Amino acid sequence: MSTQSGILYVVATPIGNLGDITRRAVQILSEVDFIAVEDTRRSRQLLNHLGIKKPMISLHEHNEQQQAGKLLARMVAGESMALVSDAGTPLISDPGYHLVRQAREQGLVVSPVPGASALMAAMSASGLPTDHFRFEGFLPNRQSARQSRLTELQQERMTLVFYESSHRIIETLTDMNSILGKDREAVLARELTKMYETFLGVNLGEILDALHADANQRKGEFVLVVRGQEKDHDRHEAESADPLLALLLDEMPIKNASRIVAKYLGLKKNDVYKRGLLIQGKRGE
Ligand code: SAM
Repeated sequence: MSTQSGILYVVATPIGNLGDITRRAVQILSEVDFIAVEDTRRSRQLLNHLGIKKPMISLHEHNEQQQAGKLLARMVAGESMALVSDAGTPLISDPGYHLVRQAREQGLVVSPVPGASALMAAMSASGLPTDHFRFEGFLPNRQSARQSRLTELQQERMTLVFYESSHRIIETLTDMNSILGKDREAVLARELTKMYETFLGVNLGEILDALHADANQRKGEFVLVVRGQEKDHDRHEAESADPLLALLLDEMPIKNASRIVAKYLGLKKNDVYKRGLLIQGKRGE
């Protein structure tokens, strides 16, 4: 692509608190030729607040495919553009995927201008493990589809992160309670960076009770952070050591057998040792 082509900037905007706009976002929004926005009214408020006047083009989930071609043609002709969504980082449960994908396929320069995202804000303050997590976005609307998705996630070890709206938060939490269990550790982050920012815990059962007890807690926007499956999964994994362990226990002491099996299967030595004790116990019965 020629160096005269414009750049597509993917610009994050605040998720509630206007103070969270970055200086670079303001600079880029002021410099580009035009801005693709999800909802012109929402973005006009932000641009007015920032004192920026720019042509806006609407790009939402229903017109993205057909609009993308036109926008890319303008970039090829040398114009630079910014993509913003109503709040947070574009493409994170928001439009923009088709545009970015096609821009990259055409060899155009796509550059992120990072900033707020409800996902990262919730994770960073949740107190749940953040070393590995699985972002699920919105669960399906239909109850049967939602329940089967949750059933698939039941054994997931990584921390799970969901987006939810006030319309469905009770239904979603009710399904989670019955499928993931009321004791599953979780944090409900509500109205992040806004006046009524709230974090509720400590497990799915208590969060659902708190929402039933107080209608105010059912208002606003939510990120639900749920701890991954722990003990059962570990137990199932350790059980996979049994056949090999049983064979080796015929030949050598439990300590050596569990060390070898743990190394071979990539399991925790201590867990395999406990399985070994169980096998020996059964043999002694
Ligand atoms: N692109 C956005 C981002 O980066 O976070 C997310 C857009 S998605 C259409 C909107 C959902 O994000 C809301 O339904 C809610 O689940 C979550 N969300 C957005 N702002 C939030 C806030 N201030 N507090 C809690 N959740 C929020």
